[in-house]
Amino acid sequence: MRHSEGRFGRTEESLFGSNRGKECPTGQHRDFSRVLSCFLVSAIPSSGASFVTARILNGNLIREEIYVELRGEIGALKAAGITPGLAAVLVGDNAASKVYVNSKVAACESLGIRSFFLTPSATITTQELLMLVHDLNERDDVDGILVQLPLPPQVDAKQILDAVDLSKDVDGFNPINVGRLVAGRPNLVACTPLGVMEILRRSKIPIEGAEAAVIGRSDIVGKPMALLLLHANATVTICHSKTRDLPATARRADIVVAAMGRPAMITADYIRPGATVIDVGTNRITDASQAERIFAKFPERLAKFREKGSALVGDVHPDVVEIAGALTPSPGGVGPLTIAMLMSNTVKAARMRHSGRAAGAATVRR
Ligand code: NDP
Repeated sequence: MRHSEGRFGRTEESLFGSNRGKECPTGQHRDFSRVLSCFLVSAIPSSGASFVTARILNGNLIREEIYVELRGEIGALKAAGITPGLAAVLVGDNAASKVYVNSKVAACESLGIRSFFLTPSATITTQELLMLVHDLNERDDVDGILVQLPLPPQVDAKQILDAVDLSKDVDGFNPINVGRLVAGRPNLVACTPLGVMEILRRSKIPIEGAEAAVIGRSDIVGKPMALLLLHANATVTICHSKTRDLPATARRADIVVAAMGRPAMITADYIRPGATVIDVGTNRITDASQAERIFAKFPERLAKFREKGSALVGDVHPDVVEIAGALTPSPGGVGPLTIAMLMSNTVKAARMRHSGRAAGAATVRR
């Protein structure tokens, strides 16, 4: 599949992220976001054919840009006597959850946010966990509360999430915070869709007036995503498992956000040439024949799969790089922004909770 070479330009220099730390190729742009939008990094399938490939929207670079801003904000808050604090609650020992929470705690450490890591046993009851959340709600040194999902089956997850103080709800899952987003008066908003908006804005993808298709309607990704795009003046279609002729609906869109949890489902026939494609999906695949189909044009990824026996893939098929105008990789696209926005929400919560003392501290609107 070929499309207009002139529109996006092309560099065959590198795969994801290998331009890190270099200056803009034109030498004109020294600030990070301009450097970022200046690099046209290609993920080139190794088929030998001459393809025009999408601009890769590198989430790791955007996260670093946000971290630079956050360090400045946190420094200013500390100068005003406020150290933002995040409490992470991990129930039981789900291995994947442990990895997620550890990376969130590590992000806190790297930024100078105080972290509190609570690990109640997998046998905890709803009442006991509610008491723990109430304690965290009362603590003045805790600005943000994160209860890692999934919770064990005996715990009523909705009751727990509803109990998190609105001003400390850094995941943005409390229905009142969701309602504020619906009303266009957002308080704390879910991190993953917030991160997608940062990717679009900092990559200078036009949103106003654009047709956007959000595929997936979960409470934590699809719905808030659609609302954020709507508030940014996109014309939004929300798609789900019952959408009729999904490929045709998605093909109308200038911006496609895929969040279904279906490995590599969004193939090139869902995408209009030149569209921006945001891949929220993170799926671990272990089936060799599935990996061979998905990575047919990416022998290096296939070789890595064979070495490890598994691989992470998004909801978007890697071949979409041949038709999209811009594309987030998975991994390395939306994931880093989810954690960055959790940090950003924690800083925002600290600023809001101590608004008197924080009045003079620098803020960046996100
Ligand atoms: P959910 O399972 O809660 O929701 C999936 C949504 O996708 C549902 O609305 C479902 O429709 C829709 N869907 C499922 N199959 C299809 C299909 N064949 N066609 C159209 N729509 C379909 O998932 P989440 O929203 O929690 O997560 C989605 C993906 O995003 C997952 O891969 C998850 O791992 C990833 N994720 C990544 C994050 C990151 O930081 N990168 C953070 C959060 C999630 P219906 O409502 O009709 O059932």
